[in-house]
Amino acid sequence: MSQLIVQKYGGSSVADAEKIVNVARRVADSAAQGHRMVVVVSAMGRTTDGLLTLASAITSTPDPREMDMLLATGEQVTIGLLAMALQSLGHPACSFTGLQVGLVTDDAHTRARIKRITAERISAALDVGKIVVVAGFQGVTERGDITTLGRGGSDLTGVALAAALKADVCEIFTDVDGVYTADPNVVPEARKLARVSYDEMLEMASLGAKVLQARSVEFAKKYGVPVHVRSTFKPDSGTLVTREDHSMEDVVVTGITHDRGQAKLSILRVPDRPGIAGKVFGGLGAQNIVVDMIVQNISRDGLTDISFTLPRADRQRAEHVLAGIAKDIGAEGVVADDRVAKVSIVGVGMRSHAGVAARMFAAMSTEGINIQMISTSEIAVSCVIEDKYTELAVRALHDAFELGRE
Ligand code: ASP
Ligand code: MG
Repeated sequence: MSQLIVQKYGGSSVADAEKIVNVARRVADSAAQGHRMVVVVSAMGRTTDGLLTLASAITSTPDPREMDMLLATGEQVTIGLLAMALQSLGHPACSFTGLQVGLVTDDAHTRARIKRITAERISAALDVGKIVVVAGFQGVTERGDITTLGRGGSDLTGVALAAALKADVCEIFTDVDGVYTADPNVVPEARKLARVSYDEMLEMASLGAKVLQARSVEFAKKYGVPVHVRSTFKPDSGTLVTREDHSMEDVVVTGITHDRGQAKLSILRVPDRPGIAGKVFGGLGAQNIVVDMIVQNISRDGLTDISFTLPRADRQRAEHVLAGIAKDIGAEGVVADDRVAKVSIVGVGMRSHAGVAARMFAAMSTEGINIQMISTSEIAVSCVIEDKYTELAVRALHDAFELGRE
Protein backbone atom coordinates (compact mmCIF):
# COMPACT_ATOMS: atom_id res chain seq x y z
CA MET A 1 0.00 0.00 0.00
CA SER A 2 1.41 3.36 -0.94
CA GLN A 3 1.97 5.63 2.01
CA LEU A 4 3.07 9.16 2.70
CA ILE A 5 6.16 8.82 4.88
CA VAL A 6 8.16 11.52 6.63
CA GLN A 7 11.68 10.37 7.47
CA LYS A 8 14.02 12.36 9.68
CA TYR A 9 17.77 11.73 9.76
CA GLY A 10 19.86 13.15 12.61
CA GLY A 11 23.33 14.69 12.50
CA SER A 12 25.24 11.44 13.03
CA SER A 13 23.37 9.85 10.10
CA VAL A 14 24.50 12.57 7.70
CA ALA A 15 27.93 13.26 9.20
CA ASP A 16 29.89 12.97 5.92
CA ALA A 17 29.37 12.61 2.16
CA GLU A 18 29.42 8.82 2.30
CA LYS A 19 26.75 8.78 5.01
CA ILE A 20 24.61 11.19 3.02
CA VAL A 21 24.77 8.82 0.05
CA ASN A 22 23.81 5.98 2.39
CA VAL A 23 20.78 8.00 3.55
CA ALA A 24 19.87 8.71 -0.07
CA ARG A 25 19.88 4.95 -0.72
CA ARG A 26 17.56 4.29 2.20
CA VAL A 27 15.19 7.00 1.07
CA ALA A 28 15.33 5.66 -2.49
CA ASP A 29 14.48 2.15 -1.23
CA SER A 30 11.30 3.44 0.40
CA ALA A 31 10.45 5.48 -2.69
CA ALA A 32 10.96 2.39 -4.86
CA GLN A 33 8.24 0.65 -2.83
CA GLY A 34 5.84 3.29 -4.14
CA HIS A 35 5.75 5.55 -1.08
CA ARG A 36 5.66 9.32 -1.29
CA MET A 37 8.67 10.59 0.66
CA VAL A 38 9.43 13.71 2.65
CA VAL A 39 12.87 13.73 4.26
CA VAL A 40 13.90 16.06 7.07
CA VAL A 41 17.58 16.35 7.92
CA SER A 42 19.78 17.81 10.65
CA ALA A 43 23.08 19.59 10.20
CA MET A 44 26.03 17.29 9.44
CA GLY A 45 27.63 15.68 12.51
CA ARG A 46 28.50 18.24 15.16
CA THR A 47 28.06 21.23 12.87
CA THR A 48 25.62 23.02 15.18
CA ASP A 49 28.02 22.70 18.14
CA GLY A 50 30.78 24.06 15.90
CA LEU A 51 28.66 27.07 14.94
CA LEU A 52 27.90 27.75 18.62
CA THR A 53 31.62 27.64 19.40
CA LEU A 54 32.32 30.08 16.59
CA ALA A 55 29.73 32.49 17.93
CA SER A 56 31.15 32.27 21.44
CA ALA A 57 34.56 33.23 20.06
CA ILE A 58 32.98 36.51 18.94
CA THR A 59 30.72 37.34 21.89
CA SER A 60 29.35 35.88 25.09
CA THR A 61 26.04 37.65 24.54
CA PRO A 62 25.04 36.93 20.97
CA ASP A 63 21.94 38.58 19.54
CA PRO A 64 19.42 35.71 19.32
CA ARG A 65 18.25 36.80 15.88
CA GLU A 66 21.78 36.61 14.52
CA MET A 67 22.35 33.32 16.31
CA ASP A 68 19.45 31.82 14.37
CA MET A 69 20.78 33.26 11.14
CA LEU A 70 24.02 31.41 11.87
CA LEU A 71 22.62 28.12 13.19
CA ALA A 72 20.14 27.64 10.37
CA THR A 73 23.00 27.39 7.86
CA GLY A 74 23.93 23.92 9.10
CA GLU A 75 20.77 22.24 7.86
CA GLN A 76 20.87 24.07 4.55
CA VAL A 77 24.17 22.38 3.70
CA THR A 78 22.67 18.94 4.28
CA ILE A 79 19.52 19.45 2.21
CA GLY A 80 21.46 20.58 -0.83
CA LEU A 81 23.81 17.61 -0.61
CA LEU A 82 21.07 15.06 0.01
CA ALA A 83 18.97 16.31 -2.90
CA MET A 84 22.06 15.98 -5.14
CA ALA A 85 22.70 12.47 -3.83
CA LEU A 86 19.11 11.43 -4.60
CA GLN A 87 19.33 12.92 -8.07
CA SER A 88 22.59 11.04 -8.69
CA LEU A 89 20.73 7.83 -7.88
CA GLY A 90 18.22 8.76 -10.56
CA HIS A 91 15.43 10.08 -8.33
CA PRO A 92 13.80 13.44 -8.93
CA ALA A 93 14.35 15.35 -5.69
CA CYS A 94 14.04 18.91 -4.50
CA SER A 95 15.19 20.61 -1.30
CA PHE A 96 13.44 23.33 0.71
CA THR A 97 14.33 25.53 3.67
CA GLY A 98 11.91 26.22 6.54
CA LEU A 99 10.94 29.47 4.89
CA GLN A 100 10.16 27.75 1.60
CA VAL A 101 7.82 25.21 3.20
CA GLY A 102 5.99 27.93 5.13
CA LEU A 103 7.00 26.76 8.60
CA VAL A 104 5.92 29.85 10.53
CA THR A 105 6.99 30.28 14.17
CA ASP A 106 6.68 32.87 16.90
CA ASP A 107 9.64 35.20 17.30
CA ALA A 108 11.28 33.54 20.33
CA HIS A 109 14.64 33.21 18.61
CA THR A 110 16.70 30.04 19.34
CA ARG A 111 13.67 28.28 20.87
CA ALA A 112 10.81 29.29 18.61
CA ARG A 113 7.42 27.58 18.65
CA ILE A 114 5.66 26.51 15.49
CA LYS A 115 2.47 28.44 14.71
CA ARG A 116 1.50 26.86 11.41
CA ILE A 117 2.86 25.08 8.37
CA THR A 118 1.55 25.77 4.89
CA ALA A 119 3.51 23.00 3.19
CA GLU A 120 2.06 23.97 -0.21
CA ARG A 121 5.33 23.58 -2.03
CA ILE A 122 5.83 20.15 -0.48
CA SER A 123 2.46 18.94 -1.71
CA ALA A 124 3.08 20.38 -5.15
CA ALA A 125 6.48 18.69 -5.40
CA LEU A 126 5.09 15.36 -4.19
CA ASP A 127 2.31 15.60 -6.77
CA VAL A 128 4.83 15.73 -9.59
CA GLY A 129 6.63 12.67 -8.19
CA LYS A 130 9.52 14.32 -6.40
CA ILE A 131 11.21 13.26 -3.21
CA VAL A 132 11.10 16.31 -0.96
CA VAL A 133 14.05 17.18 1.29
CA VAL A 134 13.42 19.72 4.06
CA ALA A 135 15.81 21.49 6.41
CA GLY A 136 15.03 20.58 10.01
CA PHE A 137 15.29 22.85 13.05
CA GLN A 138 14.42 26.08 11.24
CA GLY A 139 11.41 28.26 10.61
CA VAL A 140 10.53 31.83 9.90
CA THR A 141 8.63 34.53 11.79
CA GLU A 142 5.61 36.34 10.37
CA ARG A 143 8.03 39.15 9.50
CA GLY A 144 10.30 36.81 7.59
CA ASP A 145 13.15 36.45 10.07
CA ILE A 146 14.81 33.04 10.36
CA THR A 147 14.24 31.19 13.64
CA THR A 148 15.37 27.87 15.12
CA LEU A 149 13.34 25.46 17.24
CA GLY A 150 15.77 24.64 20.07
CA ARG A 151 18.43 21.92 20.20
CA GLY A 152 17.27 18.67 18.69
CA GLY A 153 14.59 20.65 16.85
CA SER A 154 14.77 18.62 13.66
CA ASP A 155 12.72 15.92 15.38
CA LEU A 156 10.02 18.53 15.84
CA THR A 157 10.21 19.56 12.19
CA GLY A 158 9.72 15.92 11.19
CA VAL A 159 6.74 15.37 13.46
CA ALA A 160 5.16 18.73 12.61
CA LEU A 161 5.44 18.09 8.88
CA ALA A 162 3.98 14.62 9.35
CA ALA A 163 1.03 16.19 11.19
CA ALA A 164 0.55 18.94 8.61
CA LEU A 165 0.73 16.53 5.67
CA LYS A 166 -1.32 13.84 7.49
CA ALA A 167 1.49 11.39 6.82
CA ASP A 168 1.03 7.73 7.71
CA VAL A 169 4.12 7.70 9.91
CA CYS A 170 7.07 9.81 10.96
CA GLU A 171 10.21 7.68 10.98
CA ILE A 172 13.04 9.11 13.08
CA PHE A 173 16.34 7.60 11.97
CA THR A 174 19.17 7.87 14.44
CA ASP A 175 22.30 6.12 15.67
CA VAL A 176 20.40 4.00 18.19
CA ASP A 177 17.95 1.40 16.93
CA GLY A 178 15.09 2.18 19.27
CA VAL A 179 14.07 2.88 22.84
CA TYR A 180 15.49 0.47 25.41
CA THR A 181 14.43 -0.61 28.88
CA ALA A 182 17.61 1.18 30.07
CA ASP A 183 20.74 2.60 28.48
CA PRO A 184 22.41 -0.51 26.93
CA ASN A 185 25.81 1.03 27.71
CA VAL A 186 24.94 0.74 31.38
CA VAL A 187 22.79 -2.39 31.34
CA PRO A 188 24.00 -4.93 28.75
CA GLU A 189 20.82 -7.00 29.04
CA ALA A 190 18.53 -4.04 28.33
CA ARG A 191 15.84 -4.87 25.78
CA LYS A 192 14.54 -2.87 22.86
CA LEU A 193 10.89 -1.93 23.37
CA ALA A 194 8.57 -2.61 20.44
CA ARG A 195 6.14 0.10 21.55
CA VAL A 196 5.95 2.88 24.13
CA SER A 197 3.15 5.35 24.77
CA TYR A 198 3.56 9.06 24.10
CA ASP A 199 3.43 9.77 27.83
CA GLU A 200 6.14 7.24 28.65
CA MET A 201 8.32 8.63 25.89
CA LEU A 202 7.72 12.15 27.19
CA GLU A 203 8.80 11.16 30.69
CA MET A 204 11.86 9.41 29.31
CA ALA A 205 12.78 12.33 27.06
CA SER A 206 12.49 14.87 29.86
CA LEU A 207 14.23 12.54 32.32
CA GLY A 208 17.31 12.36 30.18
CA ALA A 209 16.89 9.55 27.64
CA LYS A 210 17.93 11.57 24.64
CA VAL A 211 16.31 9.58 21.87
CA LEU A 212 13.70 12.15 20.89
CA GLN A 213 13.38 15.84 21.60
CA ALA A 214 10.65 16.23 24.25
CA ARG A 215 8.72 18.88 22.35
CA SER A 216 8.48 16.65 19.31
CA VAL A 217 6.82 13.97 21.45
CA GLU A 218 4.31 16.49 22.84
CA PHE A 219 3.50 17.51 19.31
CA ALA A 220 3.14 13.90 18.16
CA LYS A 221 0.78 13.20 21.06
CA LYS A 222 -1.32 16.25 20.37
CA TYR A 223 -1.81 15.38 16.71
CA GLY A 224 -1.70 11.59 17.04
CA VAL A 225 1.33 11.17 14.77
CA PRO A 226 2.79 7.64 15.01
CA VAL A 227 6.55 8.00 15.46
CA HIS A 228 8.85 5.14 14.59
CA VAL A 229 12.35 5.47 16.10
CA ARG A 230 14.83 3.32 14.16
CA SER A 231 18.46 2.94 13.15
CA THR A 232 19.98 4.51 10.04
CA PHE A 233 22.55 1.77 9.93
CA LYS A 234 20.40 -1.35 10.45
CA PRO A 235 17.30 -2.49 8.56
CA ASP A 236 15.40 -3.75 11.66
CA SER A 237 12.30 -2.05 12.89
CA GLY A 238 12.76 0.04 16.01
CA THR A 239 10.34 1.38 18.62
CA LEU A 240 6.90 2.72 17.79
CA VAL A 241 5.82 5.69 19.92
CA THR A 242 2.08 5.61 19.87
CA ARG A 243 -1.24 6.06 21.68
CA GLU A 244 -1.62 4.19 24.92
CA ASP A 245 -3.71 1.02 24.95
CA HIS A 246 -4.81 -1.33 27.73
CA SER A 247 -2.10 -3.93 27.24
CA MET A 248 0.51 -1.30 28.13
CA GLU A 249 -0.85 -1.10 31.68
CA ASP A 250 -0.06 -4.76 32.35
CA VAL A 251 3.62 -3.91 32.55
CA VAL A 252 4.47 -2.26 35.88
CA VAL A 253 7.60 -0.45 34.77
CA THR A 254 8.55 0.09 31.13
CA GLY A 255 12.01 1.52 31.52
CA ILE A 256 14.73 2.98 33.75
CA THR A 257 16.29 6.29 32.84
CA HIS A 258 19.10 8.29 34.34
CA ASP A 259 20.38 11.82 34.04
CA ARG A 260 23.88 12.72 35.14
CA GLY A 261 23.66 16.34 34.08
CA GLN A 262 22.13 17.51 37.34
CA ALA A 263 23.21 19.69 40.23
CA LYS A 264 21.66 20.29 43.63
CA LEU A 265 21.42 23.66 45.35
CA SER A 266 20.31 24.23 48.92
CA ILE A 267 19.42 27.48 50.59
CA LEU A 268 20.08 27.10 54.30
CA ARG A 269 18.14 28.26 57.33
CA VAL A 270 15.51 30.27 55.50
CA PRO A 271 12.84 31.97 57.63
CA ASP A 272 9.77 29.72 57.41
CA ARG A 273 7.00 32.14 56.50
CA PRO A 274 4.63 32.75 53.59
CA GLY A 275 6.15 34.24 50.44
CA ILE A 276 9.67 32.91 50.84
CA ALA A 277 9.45 30.07 48.31
CA GLY A 278 7.79 32.50 45.93
CA LYS A 279 10.76 34.87 46.27
CA VAL A 280 13.36 32.15 45.81
CA PHE A 281 11.83 30.46 42.77
CA GLY A 282 10.41 33.67 41.34
CA GLY A 283 13.92 35.10 41.34
CA LEU A 284 15.32 32.03 39.57
CA GLY A 285 12.45 31.94 37.08
CA ALA A 286 13.03 35.59 36.22
CA GLN A 287 16.55 34.58 35.14
CA ASN A 288 15.11 31.79 32.99
CA ILE A 289 16.49 29.08 35.25
CA VAL A 290 14.30 26.00 35.22
CA VAL A 291 14.38 23.97 38.41
CA ASP A 292 13.32 20.37 38.68
CA MET A 293 12.85 18.65 42.04
CA ILE A 294 12.18 20.76 45.12
CA VAL A 295 12.33 19.65 48.74
CA GLN A 296 11.59 21.79 51.79
CA ASN A 297 12.50 20.41 55.19
CA ILE A 298 10.37 20.54 58.32
CA SER A 299 11.20 23.76 60.09
CA ARG A 300 13.02 24.02 63.41
CA ASP A 301 13.01 27.29 65.36
CA GLY A 302 11.14 29.00 62.51
CA LEU A 303 13.94 28.22 60.05
CA THR A 304 14.04 25.65 57.25
CA ASP A 305 16.25 24.43 54.37
CA ILE A 306 15.07 24.34 50.76
CA SER A 307 16.88 22.15 48.22
CA PHE A 308 16.26 21.74 44.52
CA THR A 309 17.88 20.28 41.43
CA LEU A 310 18.57 21.93 38.12
CA PRO A 311 20.62 21.29 34.95
CA ARG A 312 24.31 21.32 35.89
CA ALA A 313 25.00 23.84 33.14
CA ASP A 314 22.86 26.41 35.00
CA ARG A 315 24.39 25.78 38.42
CA GLN A 316 26.84 28.69 38.54
CA ARG A 317 24.31 31.20 37.31
CA ALA A 318 21.71 29.92 39.76
CA GLU A 319 24.17 30.01 42.66
CA HIS A 320 24.88 33.64 41.90
CA VAL A 321 21.20 34.61 41.70
CA LEU A 322 20.45 32.64 44.84
CA ALA A 323 23.22 34.27 46.86
CA GLY A 324 21.53 37.62 46.26
CA ILE A 325 18.11 36.28 47.22
CA ALA A 326 19.54 34.58 50.35
CA LYS A 327 20.84 37.91 51.59
CA ASP A 328 17.49 39.59 50.87
CA ILE A 329 15.43 37.10 52.83
CA GLY A 330 17.88 36.62 55.67
CA ALA A 331 18.92 33.05 54.92
CA GLU A 332 22.18 31.71 56.28
CA GLY A 333 23.71 30.75 52.93
CA VAL A 334 23.72 28.63 49.81
CA VAL A 335 25.47 25.31 49.16
CA ALA A 336 25.89 23.57 45.81
CA ASP A 337 26.55 19.96 44.94
CA ASP A 338 27.48 18.97 41.39
CA ARG A 339 27.89 15.31 42.17
CA VAL A 340 24.28 14.25 41.93
CA ALA A 341 22.34 12.24 39.39
CA LYS A 342 18.73 11.38 38.88
CA VAL A 343 17.50 7.83 38.30
CA SER A 344 13.89 7.17 37.41
CA ILE A 345 11.46 4.37 36.75
CA VAL A 346 8.80 5.02 34.11
CA GLY A 347 5.66 3.14 33.14
CA VAL A 348 1.94 3.71 32.59
CA GLY A 349 1.41 0.48 34.58
CA MET A 350 2.15 2.44 37.77
CA ARG A 351 -1.35 3.86 37.63
CA SER A 352 -2.85 0.46 38.30
CA HIS A 353 -0.19 -1.29 40.41
CA ALA A 354 0.45 -0.56 44.10
CA GLY A 355 3.81 -0.52 45.89
CA VAL A 356 5.91 0.41 42.90
CA ALA A 357 7.81 3.22 44.62
CA ALA A 358 8.47 1.02 47.67
CA ARG A 359 10.01 -1.62 45.40
CA MET A 360 12.26 1.01 43.91
CA PHE A 361 13.45 2.28 47.30
CA ALA A 362 14.05 -1.28 48.54
CA ALA A 363 16.22 -2.02 45.49
CA MET A 364 18.31 1.08 46.18
CA SER A 365 18.73 0.30 49.85
CA THR A 366 19.85 -3.27 49.10
CA GLU A 367 22.75 -1.69 47.21
CA GLY A 368 23.40 0.75 50.06
CA ILE A 369 22.52 3.76 47.94
CA ASN A 370 21.24 6.75 49.85
CA ILE A 371 18.28 8.60 48.35
CA GLN A 372 18.63 12.38 48.69
CA MET A 373 15.41 13.52 47.06
CA ILE A 374 12.32 11.88 45.63
CA SER A 375 9.71 13.07 43.19
CA THR A 376 6.77 11.31 41.64
CA SER A 377 4.38 11.80 38.77
CA GLU A 378 1.50 9.65 37.65
CA ILE A 379 3.79 7.42 35.60
CA ALA A 380 7.29 7.97 37.03
CA VAL A 381 9.25 7.94 40.27
CA SER A 382 12.63 9.70 40.39
CA CYS A 383 15.38 9.69 43.00
CA VAL A 384 18.34 11.99 43.31
CA ILE A 385 21.44 10.09 44.42
CA GLU A 386 25.17 10.58 44.59
CA ASP A 387 26.49 10.63 41.04
CA LYS A 388 29.00 7.80 41.48
CA TYR A 389 26.22 5.28 42.18
CA THR A 390 24.27 6.00 38.98
CA GLU A 391 25.19 2.87 37.07
CA LEU A 392 24.77 0.62 40.08
CA ALA A 393 21.31 2.08 40.72
CA VAL A 394 20.18 1.68 37.12
CA ARG A 395 21.29 -1.96 37.05
CA ALA A 396 19.68 -2.72 40.40
CA LEU A 397 16.37 -1.22 39.25
CA HIS A 398 16.49 -3.01 35.92
CA ASP A 399 16.83 -6.28 37.88
CA ALA A 400 14.26 -5.42 40.53
CA PHE A 401 11.57 -4.81 37.91
CA GLU A 402 12.67 -7.81 35.85
CA LEU A 403 13.13 -5.78 32.71
CA GLY A 404 15.74 -8.08 31.23
CA ARG A 405 13.21 -10.88 30.74
CA GLU A 406 10.93 -11.25 27.75
N1 ASP B 1 21.17 20.66 14.30
C1 ASP B 1 20.32 20.97 15.43
C2 ASP B 1 20.99 20.51 16.72
O1 ASP B 1 22.08 19.97 16.69
C3 ASP B 1 18.96 20.38 15.29
C4 ASP B 1 18.91 18.88 15.29
O2 ASP B 1 19.90 18.22 14.99
O3 ASP B 1 17.86 18.33 15.57
O4 ASP B 1 20.44 20.70 17.77
MG1 MG C 1 18.81 14.69 17.47
